[in-house]
Amino acid sequence: MAILPSNINPPIITEMPDGVQGKGYFATSFEKAVGLARKNSIWPLPFATSCCGIEFMATMGAHYDLARFGSERLSFSPRQSDLLMVMGTIAKKMGPVLREVYIQMAEPKWVIAVGACASSGGIFDTYSVLQGIDRIIPVDVYVPGCPPRPEQIIDGILRIQDLIGNEHLRRRSSKEYDDLMHSYNME
Ligand code: SF4
Repeated sequence: MAILPSNINPPIITEMPDGVQGKGYFATSFEKAVGLARKNSIWPLPFATSCCGIEFMATMGAHYDLARFGSERLSFSPRQSDLLMVMGTIAKKMGPVLREVYIQMAEPKWVIAVGACASSGGIFDTYSVLQGIDRIIPVDVYVPGCPPRPEQIIDGILRIQDLIGNEHLRRRSSKEYDDLMHSYNME
């Protein structure tokens, strides 16, 4: 372990959840402990079809380093990922593929629409382009921009971390969640 000079505080890796603290112990709820573990070990599935994907490559590089947030393990297998990051223009022909990838992901799962194209079709207001991926799958966070800078993508990850860390453990078995899935014709 590196020894820091006395005038330098050690970096905060993650913030402690609410709880009760005393000498030699810390207690919190099960839900908060699960949220803490989940939000700091996100496994993203990058679904990149065009230019926004290049910004994501920069986000993964050494300078911006998404690994700082526990998200360096990318997965191209839907069953081993929990965050679908859609980056780029989604043609209507690609829609069923994206939807199938989402369906194959195991619960709990989250979705970020990165950039104007994934969020709303962007500048491509045309017959062949899906005008936002939320027409076929539920989206948790939208990142604006054409393209968004890596800082904005990281901001989207931080917003998702907030959602994950505070998600009620029973949300996925609630009536509201069932209704949301049914509105997309999913089980
Ligand atoms: S939002 Fe802009 S940068 Fe991103 S995929 Fe669309 S056209 Fe490209």
